[in-house]
Amino acid sequence: MSALPQPETDIGFDLIIVGAGFAGMYMLHKARGMGLRARVFEAGDGVGGTWYWNRYPGARCDVESMEYSYQFSDDLQQDWRWTERFAPQPEILRYANHVADRFDLRADIRFETRVLSAQFEESSARWTVRTDRGDVVTGQYLVMATGCLSSTNMPAFPGLGSFKGQSYHTGAWPHEPVDFTGKRVGVIGTGSSAIQSIPIIAEQASELVVFQRTANYSVPARNAPLDPGYEAEVKAEYTAFRERNSQMMGALGARIQVPDRPALSATPEQHRQEFDKAWERGGLGFQRSFNDLMIDSRANEIAKSYVHERIRAMVKDPATAELLCPTAVLGCKRMCVDSGYFDTFNLPHVKLVDIRPKGIEAITPTGVRAAGQDFALDAIVYATGFDAMTGSLLKVDIRGRDGLRLADAWSAGPRTYLGLNVAGFPNLFTISGPGSPSVLTNMIVSIEQHVNWIGGCIDWMRANNVPGKTRVFMPLLGFPPYVERCNQVAASGYEGFELRA
Ligand code: NAP
Repeated sequence: MSALPQPETDIGFDLIIVGAGFAGMYMLHKARGMGLRARVFEAGDGVGGTWYWNRYPGARCDVESMEYSYQFSDDLQQDWRWTERFAPQPEILRYANHVADRFDLRADIRFETRVLSAQFEESSARWTVRTDRGDVVTGQYLVMATGCLSSTNMPAFPGLGSFKGQSYHTGAWPHEPVDFTGKRVGVIGTGSSAIQSIPIIAEQASELVVFQRTANYSVPARNAPLDPGYEAEVKAEYTAFRERNSQMMGALGARIQVPDRPALSATPEQHRQEFDKAWERGGLGFQRSFNDLMIDSRANEIAKSYVHERIRAMVKDPATAELLCPTAVLGCKRMCVDSGYFDTFNLPHVKLVDIRPKGIEAITPTGVRAAGQDFALDAIVYATGFDAMTGSLLKVDIRGRDGLRLADAWSAGPRTYLGLNVAGFPNLFTISGPGSPSVLTNMIVSIEQHVNWIGGCIDWMRANNVPGKTRVFMPLLGFPPYVERCNQVAASGYEGFELRA
């Protein structure tokens, strides 16, 4: 790896961008296109954000690959070729790197550099940003492109740290392959990350113990190689395809045709027919099978019963099947999309442990204590999620007007304007911040919408009088006399110009 650059003390940036995931990369590209000077700081040693950190086995996107990509460049979306219906993490990371290369983004990104603080200086109306590598830079605008799911959540389990085996967190997975062959592995958590990784870990481990607090809804992905015919079809009308998706609640899935009718007015046979169709199709479209599933609890119960029935049919041990049946409202938390999750519990070496009501009692030197029992393990996988949405923002000591700390401004929960801006923090933008649709949508679409909005806002700021700026008339009236004068100066050998060879 090449040596890291010397700390920087540039006070002339227009934009400081924190994070080089999909949000930071596009913000940089947009800023450059507007003729702005931008500096990006990124803690990792590469681009990709969430897809850089989440390298756990089985990690893949739950949005179809033809939809989960940038649309700002038609050449890019035409050239790039996905290989599967749902792209796996390594392919999404390759895509992020391709974008960085294609638009030469790395030149303006400082990697392995974590932003520690950002302070708004009232007198200059600029943000001063300090990093853990000694950079002190200023910019007129500060864009927090830190991602919604990038700060890992590690619960303070008693005895955490005492375990003598290997410990992993799904959200900060090692870059080197992890081999669980012949090992006794424990997975704590049954969210999306766990549901994706459990079937793969089970293929290697000699014993797998899954510690579950809350069962989750999951529908089959039915992942498969991407159909070249479908790819060509989409590419032939990509703009219209994107436009249709942008009209959807989650900015995805417009191609899935569902009957626009309520479950409550359908017969049990019609319920079965629609749910079966959605289950066989795979993916997140399941919860759109009827138009009242998310607005009427009685309709939601019908969908919930169908999923329970499916789980009971897949999982052979009745007690395990009951534990895997979620009781929450279907779709209240984003549903998971899996490849063989429920079937995994039929394997003789896989065990599900219900940790309610006491939770994980302790991490011990030899494993996990839960449900009144000690489980001896060689490795523990913490699939315990993230300090979502605000975690990464509050890790940076952000201070706005009069030294107001963002952490204090948000002590009673985050308050933003459209998830983009915070009162008392001028010229600070948060991409997919709390209060915007963010994690309940196709994230790349939400990111692009925000970056385009921020670009438009900055454009407007530049076109309109900026507060604090001396009001003078700056352009010259009259093009022909101006050109004539320029030509005269050139003919005189640029007399009066300050030029250095
Ligand atoms: P998550 O959904 O927050 O799941 C965390 C799991 O850890 C839950 O089962 C939770 O149980 C458990 N847990 C947390 N603290 C615990 C504690 N103290 N004791 C015992 N169990 C504990 O995290 P995630 O699976 O990493 O997913 C996070 C988000 O990323 C989700 O919104 C998901 O949609 C998204 N994601 C998407 C994809 C994809 O695109 N395919 C893949 C992965 C993740 P409780 O439920 O009881 O709290």
